[in-house]
Amino acid sequence: MSMFKDIPVEVGVIFEGERIRRNDMQVELGGPTVNKKFEIAYVKQMDQIEDGKVIVVGPDLKNLEEGKAYPLGILVEAAGAQLDSGLEGVIERRLHGYLNYLEGFMHLNQRYDIWMRLGKKSFQKGLNSFEIMGKVLFRLFKNELPIIEKLQITFITDSVKIDELYPNALAAYEARDAKARGLKDSEVDTFYGCALCQSFAPSHVCVITPQRYSNCGAISWFDGKASASIDPKGPIFGIPRGDIINEEKGEFSGVNEAAKKRSMGEVTKVWLYTAFDHPHTSCGCFEAVTFYIPEVDGFGVVQRNFKGAAVNGLPFSTLADSTAGGRQIDGFHGMSLEYMRSSKFFAADGGWNRIVWVPKEVKEKVKDFIPKDVIDKIATEEDVKSVDELKAFLKDKSHPIVAKWVAEETSVAATENEDVPVMTASTLPISAGGFRIILTDAKIYASKVVIKKDEKTEKR
Ligand code: SF4
Repeated sequence: MSMFKDIPVEVGVIFEGERIRRNDMQVELGGPTVNKKFEIAYVKQMDQIEDGKVIVVGPDLKNLEEGKAYPLGILVEAAGAQLDSGLEGVIERRLHGYLNYLEGFMHLNQRYDIWMRLGKKSFQKGLNSFEIMGKVLFRLFKNELPIIEKLQITFITDSVKIDELYPNALAAYEARDAKARGLKDSEVDTFYGCALCQSFAPSHVCVITPQRYSNCGAISWFDGKASASIDPKGPIFGIPRGDIINEEKGEFSGVNEAAKKRSMGEVTKVWLYTAFDHPHTSCGCFEAVTFYIPEVDGFGVVQRNFKGAAVNGLPFSTLADSTAGGRQIDGFHGMSLEYMRSSKFFAADGGWNRIVWVPKEVKEKVKDFIPKDVIDKIATEEDVKSVDELKAFLKDKSHPIVAKWVAEETSVAATENEDVPVMTASTLPISAGGFRIILTDAKIYASKVVIKKDEKTEKR
């Protein structure tokens, strides 16, 4: 039984996490083959929008060719006496949950990275217009966020209109992200958790702190704060920071407790500033993956829309699969690009001094946050095509990681050359010349060890 009688498909939480395979899809909206796509929320004045209005700019769902991918822009405009622009990120992120409530509809990712699919069965049942989707969204928003008094939703498939609005959307995302920069984790007593992706990754909870952005890159600490205050029973909740257990690795007692509780005991420890041992869990809609490259003891980063293989020969999808699903995988880390702008970006692992390969597009986006003395020493896909080439590049550029190789080689060589005892014993009695000598905690060094058969013992 549908939540809404006049809607041709079922609507409900049970459809969250539903995957639509390529063969089962009517159309794809956004996704990896579409260059420009976005979803964005704006808070407007009461007289600027019309409550309940759904606008479609460009061809509607029923006019899109089966099996094809199309650009899409979604504009959610909200007004209310208590609304302000600080809530735009919160309203926008609700699209992920609400669109996934639709039977036979899949929404992945966020912002400029959205990827949706409408299933054939739901299309045949009658979900063939954005008007219907808009109606559902309108009701869910109004039910769950009563602070929204007026709501207008626009779906855009017209690529000229998308081109026109796209730069404004990017500028709005950047302004939101910039607001959260500068504040330190140690300066706040509450972090925020988001469990919105548990439908896809049951043990995953995003821990959102001023210095560690959410994995999807869509929710800042400020967004978390705003969301938890207007909808305390919603998917975003406050996490009292608790004690700092390990400042370097980013371990906080409150985070451990929240992770344990929300993951049903699956995850008991989370270290926020490292990719090793107890890294933050990775859901499925992270913007990028950091991956360890053992041959050079450094990290590569690859973003979702990167075409082709990363320097280790693996594409984003394979690297993402090796860490997604709410797991903590040593050396692999699903994360947002905004985390790369944080001074806590893998701080415990060496930060930018440990990053050895980053696609050019990402490097360009975060270049102002990469230390000047290392930026040219980090390779891109244009510099190297394999790990061997990467190794040579790093040596040639004297990347800081090379000093680590030299230090490790020296310590291995030193261990190999070091005099090691031929024998150790806690007590070692020696009888000689009528005396009995007892050595305590003995370590015996010898330049030569001769092993001979004891003739007397042999004869006996
Ligand atoms: S990635 Fe994290 S913050 Fe973003 S929707 Fe999923 S759980 Fe929430």
